[in-house]
Amino acid sequence: MNSRAKQNDALPPDIAVDENGDLSARVHAEPAHPYRSAFARDAARILHARAFRRLAGKTQVFSRLARDLPGDHFRTRLTHTLEVAQISGTLATALGLNRELAEALALAHDIGHPPFGHAGEKALDTALRQHGLGFDHNLHALRIVTWFEERYPAWRGLNLTLAVREGIVKHSRDYSSATHPELAAYFLDLRPPLEAQLIDLADEIAYLTADFDDGLDSGILTVAGVCNHVPLFRSFHDEIKTQYPAAPIKQAVYETLNRMLNALVTDLIEEVRTHVAALGATTLDDIRRAPGRIAALSPAMEADRAAAKSYLYTHFYNSPGMEEEHERAAQVVRELFALLMAEPGLLPADHQAQIPTEGLARTVADYIAGMTDSYIEQLWSRYAK
Ligand code: MG
Repeated sequence: MNSRAKQNDALPPDIAVDENGDLSARVHAEPAHPYRSAFARDAARILHARAFRRLAGKTQVFSRLARDLPGDHFRTRLTHTLEVAQISGTLATALGLNRELAEALALAHDIGHPPFGHAGEKALDTALRQHGLGFDHNLHALRIVTWFEERYPAWRGLNLTLAVREGIVKHSRDYSSATHPELAAYFLDLRPPLEAQLIDLADEIAYLTADFDDGLDSGILTVAGVCNHVPLFRSFHDEIKTQYPAAPIKQAVYETLNRMLNALVTDLIEEVRTHVAALGATTLDDIRRAPGRIAALSPAMEADRAAAKSYLYTHFYNSPGMEEEHERAAQVVRELFALLMAEPGLLPADHQAQIPTEGLARTVADYIAGMTDSYIEQLWSRYAK
């Protein structure tokens, strides 16, 4: 990281979320812990949750069920989440923000994802649309932490702080109070704190670099193909080939991705500083009342990121073998959804108890959304085939 990105260039201190302020409030009041901050406790509550452990069995890009993958070290949604937490912690420290809050939000950012990655999410959303509903992984994450996790005798959910619940809802998009009156407590007309704004970009940076790694490692992408079409990759790869002409291909790729990741993170840190200074923001309230979100890459880096992502879509996520996998994932979700709608008696008792208040379609979706790839496959093989 260059000299401009050192910790002593932190943002004005009142921009960081105060761990003892209003945003550390919980729905059920709890005494302060003797030596852990409210947000460190939230990070721990998320990390110890059952839904968090299930991320190990959920697809990031490759389904755990793909039987012909040339390797067994591809990312899962859990290892992706840990990479996002690492990047978010770095960003928060460099900017003088609340690191514990940023890490708690990163740990929670994908907790609402259904099995089979985006193919599974799309299939679940399509199934719900026939019932006038939809599936949104941020809102599902909020339901997990406020209701489905049952770890305390005194209340349902994890009783997380307001800052973490707000960040779970708003880290990647805004919701209007007209269409989502149930989210009124989360300051829908205001921008989220920077700790939350950074999560979506940390997510983008983490998966962009990781997916080139997994894509190249799987053989679906080639170094020559990526170099030809992704300028950000090519510039670092050329630099490394000059610096280490004898480097084996793998190490040259790793070093290219290391430098890409570092360049993206450094650009983001510098861009946030520039935006905050231009706005004259010195408090969290200034960030909240800014005309738009402040966390963004510079226009040049954003163009590079968009080009790299577009390449991944065409040549990796939607490549021919992957499309087959997505279609199969959609079939499993669609058929199990239809089967459980027709035979709600197959739902576990605690889910059946939700039908009177949530309706059958939402209850079935909640049940499916919680499953790992292998669990949904197992139920589908048992009931739907
Ligand atoms: Mg993610």
